[in-house]
Amino acid sequence: MANVLENAISLVERTGEILNFGKRFQGQAIIERLRIPDKVIMFRATVQLDRSGLKVFNCYRIQHSDVLGPYKGGIRFHPEVDTDEVTALALLMTLKTAVVNIPYGGAKGGITLDPKMLSVTELERLVRKYTFRLVNDIGPNIDIPAPDMGTSAREMAWIFDEYRKHRDSALGVVTGKPVSLGGSLGRKEATGRGVVCAMLEAAKDLNLKNFTVAVQGFGNVGSHAALYCFEQGIKVTAVQDIAGGVCNPEGLNVPELVKYCDQTGGVVDFPGGKPLDDIVAYPCDVLMPCAKESMITAENAGQIKAKLIVEGANGPTTEEADRILDERKILVVPDILANAGGVIVSYFEWVQNREGFYWEEEDVNNRLFTRLRKAYASVKETAAAKKVTLRQAAYCIALEKITQAMISRGVQ
Ligand code: NAD
Repeated sequence: MANVLENAISLVERTGEILNFGKRFQGQAIIERLRIPDKVIMFRATVQLDRSGLKVFNCYRIQHSDVLGPYKGGIRFHPEVDTDEVTALALLMTLKTAVVNIPYGGAKGGITLDPKMLSVTELERLVRKYTFRLVNDIGPNIDIPAPDMGTSAREMAWIFDEYRKHRDSALGVVTGKPVSLGGSLGRKEATGRGVVCAMLEAAKDLNLKNFTVAVQGFGNVGSHAALYCFEQGIKVTAVQDIAGGVCNPEGLNVPELVKYCDQTGGVVDFPGGKPLDDIVAYPCDVLMPCAKESMITAENAGQIKAKLIVEGANGPTTEEADRILDERKILVVPDILANAGGVIVSYFEWVQNREGFYWEEEDVNNRLFTRLRKAYASVKETAAAKKVTLRQAAYCIALEKITQAMISRGVQ
């Protein structure tokens, strides 16, 4: 993951040059401030296993910046979680909340583990320990966690409940909760739906009609993006998860595929399609990397057939691959814009929790799409004005916004 952190920092530095920060803001102090997170919290949690003794886990919460509002970011459970990965994801959150104009800073959390290896009771014990250790560092006005890879509404409910025991029952301490516990309608689907909304804007710009979509990763983001495409009458011709892929040039029946995954745990051998090895090179108009970081690299960027890439995952494209895609005139809608639907609806959830007034799902979706379209339009406008890629433009907008806020507050 080190290279995702290096990528993001190097992009921030290059953006500082594009924006002439050296001259405008007395040297590189602002950039320097963004290179390093505000606070790095690392600890170990020991958990009693159901049958076989104790196990120790590495736990992280990295608070990158609260210049624009309370820290905000998901919690990831994955065997590759480490300090660099969580730091990179926290920096991306700071930029993402700024690009889509919501009043939050950026943070990320994680525990190094494969959640499938623990029982539900073991997981609950671990999440409760993790929360207890962070009880002074999180809160509805301090730092608000949410789900990411390997976590879901279930874990968020445990976090809320543990926080409630030691502090108070502020629902806004965490977002992505179950709807029965103050979660927002449409939050679970929001990241995937937002990815499709961003894709539709970019497809209009490219004048793509009757296009086909390939989705890499079929978890929360990928499956909801594929489902929303299907509901909109857009053909999803290929999907892939960690175990393998499936394709059908006539279009996959995505609701059936979701049911199949619920029964079997993955997309492999879905009877409505043929097996597929390499989704990145699959002939399609739009590729949605919705799995994990560094999936599009210098090695495979040259084989991509799609005209448009919409990044559902965080950091799926390496810096070298990005350069190749730009040379090949493949349009990339960057992660900090394309997958911001989740944090936007998390913000709506937090607002609803504060008001105690809950919105209809249609209202949530309309507000989500309005915000995303507005953010997309401003990124596109900046890209045209500065003659840079959409990614670079999104970084420009984020950095300008964060810098203005830092200066207004007095750089700390
Ligand atoms: P998830 O754990 O629900 O799903 C991940 C999916 O990717 C699974 O289907 C898995 O099998 C697949 N996968 C993993 N490695 C793969 C590989 N090598 N090849 C192909 N498929 C592979 O995770 P998620 O919540 O959907 O998150 C996916 C990405 O989206 C992550 O980068 C995450 O940070 C980002 N993201 C998630 C949210 C959210 O609301 N969940 C919001 C913004 C961004």
